[in-house]
Amino acid sequence: MVTVLYIGGLGRSGSTLVERLAGQLPGACAVGEIVHLWQRGVTEDERCGCGTAFAQCSFWQQAGKTAFGGWDEIDPGRVAALRARVDRNRFVPRLAARPAGTGPAGTGPPSALAEYMSYYTRLYAAVAEVSGARLVIDSSKHPSLAHCLRRQGGVDLRVLHLVRDSRAVAYSWGRAVRRPDTDRQSYMTRYSPAVAAAQWNGQNAAFHLLRGVPVMRLRYEDVVAAPEAAVRRIAAFSGLPAPGRLAFLGAGWAELEPGHSVSGNPMRFATGKIAIRPDERWRADLPAGPRREVTALTSPLLAAYGYLGSRR
Ligand SMILES: [Zn+2]
Repeated sequence: MVTVLYIGGLGRSGSTLVERLAGQLPGACAVGEIVHLWQRGVTEDERCGCGTAFAQCSFWQQAGKTAFGGWDEIDPGRVAALRARVDRNRFVPRLAARPAGTGPAGTGPPSALAEYMSYYTRLYAAVAEVSGARLVIDSSKHPSLAHCLRRQGGVDLRVLHLVRDSRAVAYSWGRAVRRPDTDRQSYMTRYSPAVAAAQWNGQNAAFHLLRGVPVMRLRYEDVVAAPEAAVRRIAAFSGLPAPGRLAFLGAGWAELEPGHSVSGNPMRFATGKIAIRPDERWRADLPAGPRREVTALTSPLLAAYGYLGSRR
């Protein structure tokens, strides 16, 4: 059974950086946001993290062949239809209501969840085989997919719940960010502060409903402050042998090899030496009104995660 580290949390919480760092561990293979592979990779042929188009990437061609006999053998429309039936955040309470590994019930016709999960199980196994890794890292982030995998993933699932200060997250969702994933003019989605706050509450709360699978909660700010300690914690949580010296990490920097991450934040394309430093722009640039609004709307979990200390 393949071990999958699923990185969950609301977008703009630093999941791409955490995935890239963890993907440097010996025995790990980080593949980006698999939930988007079917549409953005298979159908739209967006760029892989290695810089080539999905259809030109030899890693993904090999993985598709191993998993399905080739990408032509699957219908991405079928995966999308199944996703609409079982993998929605509004189904999380029903998915969470039954023990792990109990299979379908309550989220549509019995076969839908099993069929939907079979695409993921086969792909994870193929990634492990093609890469030779013992750990596959999927940074899909969505809580509903974590709940589907918990119920019927057929994998040894470990969930890394990544959290970040809601004010920083709301600030990031308000900015216009170009997507380098395609040649078309394309920008990442933007949210108003109130919508970002609601999303932050809902998505994070959904990870507290995961039962029966290992869940590790990690603050992005702690990763940035002490990357090596965070990466060692992730390795131990994922069942990887304790790594020796982490030559790819230094004080305030990491050295990243190109990867085959299929979708995610633009930093998935970054290679070589990158800086790791706190991103505190929101403290100066998020206006007082939205800042108060986001703080008030998210205060219960913000306090629970330790973000309402004296400095803040
Ligand atoms: Zn690639």
